[in-house]
Amino acid sequence: MGEFDLIARYFTRPTPRAVLGVGDDCALLQPAPGTQLAISSDMLVEGRHFFADVDPFALGHKALAVNLSDLAACGATPLAFTLALALPDVDEAWLAPFSRGLLALADAHGCELVGGDTTRGPLNICITVFGEVPVVHGKSQALLRSGARAGDDVYVSGTLGDARLALEALRGNIALPAELLAQARERLERPTPRVALGQALRGVASAALDISDGLLGDLRHLLRASGVGATLDTSIAIHLIAACAHPDCATGLISLKNRLNCVLAGGDDYELAFSAPVSARQAVQAAARQAATPVTRIGCIDAEPGLRLLDADGQRLSGAFASFDHFA
Ligand code: ADP
Ligand code: MG
Repeated sequence: MGEFDLIARYFTRPTPRAVLGVGDDCALLQPAPGTQLAISSDMLVEGRHFFADVDPFALGHKALAVNLSDLAACGATPLAFTLALALPDVDEAWLAPFSRGLLALADAHGCELVGGDTTRGPLNICITVFGEVPVVHGKSQALLRSGARAGDDVYVSGTLGDARLALEALRGNIALPAELLAQARERLERPTPRVALGQALRGVASAALDISDGLLGDLRHLLRASGVGATLDTSIAIHLIAACAHPDCATGLISLKNRLNCVLAGGDDYELAFSAPVSARQAVQAAARQAATPVTRIGCIDAEPGLRLLDADGQRLSGAFASFDHFA
């Protein structure tokens, strides 16, 4: 099968929203009146971002999910995406499930594949997503990293740390019961971009970003962009790892330290971290209900720069918790 047959078979679809999709030199998009485009790219490289033997359906899902997560963090509504693909060879047993996983998530979000590029090379997947954000009275409604103010609350969506737990198990650094591994692995391989929540938080959150490299590292980007600091209550955050609610875990299978490491510094979570004024607490909960996505208040924004972690007794934790110890 040649390049153009491959594109026609696996990556060409009707595009009712786009003016022009795959097949010409450019795709044509028409953003709705009163909106601006939000654009983001993410690349997935074999060996760096995924294992060579990962399920291709899950990989197709994840390649788009990590991009949709960036749109979610901006409060954007997905519109379209392009796919640049380097493939070592034409393997239909791989391409078919990859495109199914990719396009199933695309359909779920009304995000149309409108173009791309296909070449031979080491497996590499680069997606660019395009979303829409309303502009109201000349002001963009996009959620930025720079809007957090001292006194705001700090929230995260969903659960944190399970993806990292799965990664450590797959690397052989920790033994997990099969059911627990399957549950955690689902979070690693098939993350859920919080697109509906991001949109619901427009006009509610003061700043937001998505968590791809771990809560603490990513939150620091938001704090720096906003010129503020934060204090987090780790006794709340530690419950955000879903695996530890499982009965198999009740016996302390995963040490407290590693639970905290997974939650605070795990990575690959694709949840949203955001700030909102105290006066918006009800609006935040309403947004969470509207998006059917739980959110947890884990701390507050301070005028003093830096990130402070408190335990259940309000005592400062040392920064050592921010680094992962590989379950030694
Ligand atoms: P050009 O030579 O102008 O770069 P190509 O021959 O690379 O165009 O691609 C032909 C058409 O197929 C273009 O519309 C391009 O956007 C689309 N395309 C190429 N690869 C992909 C892909 N992996 N997924 C979706 N569309 C693709
Ligand atoms: Mg090309």
